[in-house]
Amino acid sequence: MNVQRTQKALQLSRFLYDHAKTILFVYVVLNNSRKAQRHVRARGLLTTFRELYIWLANRVIGLALRFPAARQKVETEMEKARIEIEGKLVPQGADVVRHLSLPPAGQGIEWILKEMDTMDGYIKSPNYKLGKLSGAVYHGGDDMEKIIVTAYQRYCVSNPLHPDVFPAVRKMEAEIVAMCLRMYNHPTGAGTMTSGGTESIIMSVKTHRDWARAVKGITEPEIVLPASAHAAFDKGAQYLGIKVHTIPVDPHTRKADMKRIKRAINSNTIMLVGSAVNFPDGNQDDIVALAELARKYKTGLHVDCCLGSFVMPFLEAAGLSNGENGKYKLEPFDFRVPGVTAISCDTHKYGFAPKGTSVIMYRDSALRQYQYYVNPSWTGGVYASPSLSGSRPGALIAGTWAVMQYMGHQGYLDSCKEIVTCARTIANDIAATIPELQILGSPPGPVVAFSSRSEDLNILEVGDIMSKRGWHLNALSQPAALHIACTRLTVNAVDTFLADLKDSVKEAKAAPSGKGTMVTLYGLGNSSAVGPEMVGRVATMFIDTLYKA
Ligand SMILES: *Cc1c(COP(=O)(O)O)cnc(C)c1O
Repeated sequence: MNVQRTQKALQLSRFLYDHAKTILFVYVVLNNSRKAQRHVRARGLLTTFRELYIWLANRVIGLALRFPAARQKVETEMEKARIEIEGKLVPQGADVVRHLSLPPAGQGIEWILKEMDTMDGYIKSPNYKLGKLSGAVYHGGDDMEKIIVTAYQRYCVSNPLHPDVFPAVRKMEAEIVAMCLRMYNHPTGAGTMTSGGTESIIMSVKTHRDWARAVKGITEPEIVLPASAHAAFDKGAQYLGIKVHTIPVDPHTRKADMKRIKRAINSNTIMLVGSAVNFPDGNQDDIVALAELARKYKTGLHVDCCLGSFVMPFLEAAGLSNGENGKYKLEPFDFRVPGVTAISCDTHKYGFAPKGTSVIMYRDSALRQYQYYVNPSWTGGVYASPSLSGSRPGALIAGTWAVMQYMGHQGYLDSCKEIVTCARTIANDIAATIPELQILGSPPGPVVAFSSRSEDLNILEVGDIMSKRGWHLNALSQPAALHIACTRLTVNAVDTFLADLKDSVKEAKAAPSGKGTMVTLYGLGNSSAVGPEMVGRVATMFIDTLYKA
């Protein structure tokens, strides 16, 4: 008996050995075809083919660029772009003093301030106080500056990595998180501060990845997000090795197609994403529907309120949540929706706190633990930190805490009313008086985006003309559009904005030039297979330029 059994085992192992290659091959094919199947299911056949086409086209372009003539042409164009970018960002000329090594002896404060004056003078920059910027500076009042600087100075050297040395900073951070959790109607939740919206989002992606690995055994994580979600999700997914399914939004409502979101969910999905409100056009996703899917498939759901920050939670109390004539209506978006597992909220946007601060919140502290990094056996001692950074600026936490105390509930309520009323004035006026333009979706908050209705009007050209009048609007693609994120500073400039916009539309229609910075930079983007490749190169060069001393 025993001999027979041994022989059988031997035969089996010989069979496996002989066919190992085939078995491995079949496994690889099955595994990859399962991946391919999921991919096609999530994106649809058409998109998959388009992706394939773009991939192929890029290969072909890559090959074509190896020919000297073609390469020469591209290099010439790139060189032109480089000179233009450098001219805009880096002060030119022999009289520009460049500080490329340490001064032999230290300088005094008078010299330092004088040199800063000189540097401010090198390149003409817009005066943000005129209110002609979309977003960027959210409060801009002198009173706020004083609060921030005073708090910053007091806690200048502090670092929450050493809570025993700086106990007040620890307390302030915990209280900032607690106040935000209450604003988002979930006082029993948990969270941490981070250096900004991008870090909040990347931490949430990591948290959900590690949670899904521990609880669901997912080793090839995927996330599903609407095309209107912030690029920080893609950035985080790229850093962390996670696959992203980007689902198109409806051209009219600007909300994600829920059927396609559902189709993209599979057993590897770790989280879904919705925004309240999204950056491109200021609309909010259907968080209730997303949450239902998240509960059904036991995935996470991150609601991105980085931009909505301290506006969305105050819309109801401001009496603005029911909209006007069926427009601008606010839908549920916070932790009161069961299924929402995380919310990011930027204190440094409509919270008016100093730049470099944001809050990431979770449904409970058990989920938050997946964000932590803990190394019990490091040579330097037990090491544990809550987020990406090790040392962190306690001064920014103090600045944020001070601003929140200074504003209070009433202050944020008033600013919500002011800012959202400004956005609605803009949207209503465009809809009523500029027939060439249309508002994208029905934005409930502070951001309004508009595109062109007609073939003879290039909206990006309108953006270029607005730039000449001192306006800094954001240019969007798919569809080409412009947006303005209203701030405390825009409120006083709304009449000028509307008058300038009307004139710019007329001008662009009367004499279309087909040129201009926005047109060349954003117009190229997605219209051809070459577009993204070239725009990518120019963008890389742009970053290089930032480091030219
Ligand atoms: C600004 C923004 C972010 C990213 O925030 P940063 O602070 O710039 O890193 C994320 N989501 C939305 C919707 C935003 O508007």
